[in-house]
Amino acid sequence: MKKVYLDNASTTPLRPEVIQEITKVLTEDYGNPSSTHSLGRNAKSILELSRKSIAKQLNATAQEIIFTSCGTEANNWILRSAVKDLKVTRIITSKIEHHAVLHTAMELQKEYAIQIDFVNVKSNGELDLTHLVELLSEEKKTLVSLMHVNNETGAILDLGRVSRICQEHNVLFHSDTVQSVGKTKIDLQTIPIDFIVASAHKFHGPKGVGFAFVRKNSGLQPLFFGGEQEKGQRPGTEAVHQIAGMAKALELSYQNLEAESQYIASLKDYAIERLKANFPEFKINGENTFHNLLNVILPIEENKTAMLLFHLDMKGIAVSRGSACQSGSIRPSHVLAEMLSEEDLKKPSIRISFSHYNTKEDVDLLIEGLKSI
Ligand code: PLP
Repeated sequence: MKKVYLDNASTTPLRPEVIQEITKVLTEDYGNPSSTHSLGRNAKSILELSRKSIAKQLNATAQEIIFTSCGTEANNWILRSAVKDLKVTRIITSKIEHHAVLHTAMELQKEYAIQIDFVNVKSNGELDLTHLVELLSEEKKTLVSLMHVNNETGAILDLGRVSRICQEHNVLFHSDTVQSVGKTKIDLQTIPIDFIVASAHKFHGPKGVGFAFVRKNSGLQPLFFGGEQEKGQRPGTEAVHQIAGMAKALELSYQNLEAESQYIASLKDYAIERLKANFPEFKINGENTFHNLLNVILPIEENKTAMLLFHLDMKGIAVSRGSACQSGSIRPSHVLAEMLSEEDLKKPSIRISFSHYNTKEDVDLLIEGLKSI
């Protein structure tokens, strides 16, 4: 049975060049980057070249890139240290953030009694930036944490505009850019943002590795202690093979960005066209969404909602309902809950997310699969 993988917002298949790079480093470059002998120095050099390469893709400096185990860790680190060390007493975020931000903010509220304010979400899934400005009129030591591309709907935040709003109000700005790094250009010299985070497995790199961009002289302090790695900011022996794989994946993503994103956007258009033809009453959740994400309400009986993903899975088709961590659960997505009517929320929504490895045939098979439910 042909596998149809349309769940690329959850994770992506590795590029062959990335597998090659990881295998090479695992096989040949096994030194500990902290060792002073030649094997160690070689591993250290791979690490630093990877850091430089990643920094270059985002127009940052190498010292501003700190490797972490994943996007979740990077988000946790930035939010926690902002409160603990930078003495932030208020976080402004939104209810449509990934739980890596939302649950961390709620935990910090419990631990440090900080104020949490939520920017209003519009029915098209975008944030109300007028409301953000209103919230910022209250003067407090603040961190704004708003994601760049929403992982469920693909709603896009204007990173440049929000950065400038934050700069004007003299507050810190962090963005969870896990869904956008490697998929759209981000120029950290022109965007005055303080912190962003990334996760390699979202851009055809390995799982279990990510990074934080932390602007120079931020004052952020480590979460962990016990080593000098990452200049003491993130101790622990570095996963050199993962980091080299991540750098390779990011380099290739940006090298092929234009052609691949155009192709992916054309697949999304094709999917919309096929859905229109076969399910005229279908609705898209969100407006002007990111080119690789399509979240739709299907005109399928509500009692079939719970079985929908299972049914598609039986046919070898992988899509998602809301975010990956909620797949299989029948709780409504916390993101869709903020933007849909009660009635629409009860209807089955699926998230279809594309990569350059998908084809029109994959879309056709998905439509056939949906028709047979
Ligand atoms: N933030 C967003 C927007 C995500 O989509 C994800 C992954 O689903 C994460 C954070 C978590 O990243 P990681 O899997 O690297 O912990």
